Amino acid sequence: MDCIFCKIIAGEIPCDKVYEDEKVLCFNDIAPKAPIHVLAVPKKHTANLLEVGDDKEMLNDINYAIKKVAEKMNIAENGFKTVINTGTDGGQSVNHLHFHILGGKKFGEDL
Ligand code: 5GP
Ligand code: ZN
Repeated sequence: MDCIFCKIIAGEIPCDKVYEDEKVLCFNDIAPKAPIHVLAVPKKHTANLLEVGDDKEMLNDINYAIKKVAEKMNIAENGFKTVINTGTDGGQSVNHLHFHILGGKKFGEDL
């Protein structure tokens, strides 16, 4: 499958890893939109939120990894923004589910 995040998970393309466990890989975004910009990616290929389907553990696994990233990057106390883009109108450019974790600056209250 021609999926860039699957290739990163397989170690075929390098990444700057922040956190990894059995189910999730978290690595720095190649084009950061904030001082801290980490992507949390399930290891099982899943195109987007709609494809999570019956895998009720997947989002919990990602949430656990996000907490670990927040602690490791010292953004747990001040907070951070999470963004998930879905499909064309959602601005999704990589069709493998990923949560953006954005921190290290104060965002406005608008989306
Ligand atoms: P999307 O637009 O799908 O929500 O986000 C995709 C994100 O993946 C973008 O922020 C983009 O910079 C990042 N990205 C795309 N290709 C790579 C890559 O090869 N390595 C890393 N670390 N990030 C990537
Ligand atoms: Zn994939």
